[in-house]
Amino acid sequence: MGAAAWAASLGGERTAQAQSAPAPASTSADKPRKKLGYALVGLGSLSQNQIAPALAEKTKHCKLTGLVSGHPDKAKEWAKKYGVPEKNIYDYQNFDQIKNNPDIDVVYVVLPNSMHAEFTIRAAKAGKHVLCEKPMAISVKECDAMIAACRQAGRKLAIAYRLHFEPNNRELVRLAREKTLGSVKVIEAAAGFPIGDPKQWRLDKALAGGGSLMDIGIYALQAARYISGEEPISVNAVSTTTDPVKFKPGVDESVSFTLKFPSGVIATCASSYATGLNRFRAGAERGWFEVQPALNYTGIKGRMSSQGTMQDFNFPAIDHFAAEMDDFADCILRDVQTRVPGEEGRRDLRIMTAIYEAAASGRSVSLAKA
Ligand code: NAD
Repeated sequence: MGAAAWAASLGGERTAQAQSAPAPASTSADKPRKKLGYALVGLGSLSQNQIAPALAEKTKHCKLTGLVSGHPDKAKEWAKKYGVPEKNIYDYQNFDQIKNNPDIDVVYVVLPNSMHAEFTIRAAKAGKHVLCEKPMAISVKECDAMIAACRQAGRKLAIAYRLHFEPNNRELVRLAREKTLGSVKVIEAAAGFPIGDPKQWRLDKALAGGGSLMDIGIYALQAARYISGEEPISVNAVSTTTDPVKFKPGVDESVSFTLKFPSGVIATCASSYATGLNRFRAGAERGWFEVQPALNYTGIKGRMSSQGTMQDFNFPAIDHFAAEMDDFADCILRDVQTRVPGEEGRRDLRIMTAIYEAAASGRSVSLAKA
């Protein structure tokens, strides 16, 4: 599903993935359904602080049933804490045996970026559906291999773009698509945070695939695409570092990029590991609308302004991770297309590759051909 198709998903419309598949006999409204089992691959900070708690306390259609880790003691501790049977603990070597485990329906890949492709492909070969963290991978070629592996195995692949489920960000899309303040003309999107520890994998090109853009700037890119509802036709970019010791070649500290869309909409975006940036704003003919903070796990706020009047969005808070995992479980149970398929992750990789190319060459890079 591309940026334009997100608009369609606002109304909860879904496309049946297998045309020949029979219509589901029941829906969530009819009767309680089995909860799908998720296995987490990588028990780092995101799994620990967001995903496992969401699976334990918030999700309706899924639960934690498997753990994959390089640290057996940690995995045992988690198993005890979350009531996961010890037989459902795997390490990175014996992971493929997961294929014999009926408790596990979905593998959620929460590893450093360069490991996403390997574990997605191995999970698909083991017959499991895959939810993979962003960025989907570190190259378009890897994305292609991941999509092909899931297709071949007849399993679904979703990328963990949590903001597609967040109500304030969805409201930006609705306002843009319905032209509530007229057509959107200009988008500004900025995402960043100070990176801290110089030894972490996020600053290692081999593991991260890049720098701030791959990790946090991807949210600004996503916002530009889902607000415009279009795919960019060209990109210009500038990348700089104020700390060449910390930021080695290939690991960007800050990148500023401009996307041009077919309708003439322009998006100016910023990504940084040097400072906090956290706002997506759309300028339309009769006013503007924005989210700020735009991408925190909690506390996202949105507002719109027209003719001197400002109005807050006021949506109830949701758990982004519970929402994305439940949505994927629901898509699997009903055999419908996820709104965040592998193809969506691939589009971002293709554009980010062009952004890096534009920054390196100082020239505009065309994205006109797929
Ligand atoms: P983290 O460093 O806290 O955890 C990484 C995990 O991978 C650890 O359990 C570590 O032991 C394991 N690992 C295996 N091999 C490793 C290696 N060679 N080097 C380093 N770690 C290795 O990272 P994290 O913050 O949990 O991020 C994991 C993934 O989740 C990344 O792809 C990141 O982009 C993504 N993420 C997404 C969000 C979001 O909001 N969706 C937020 C944070 C992170």
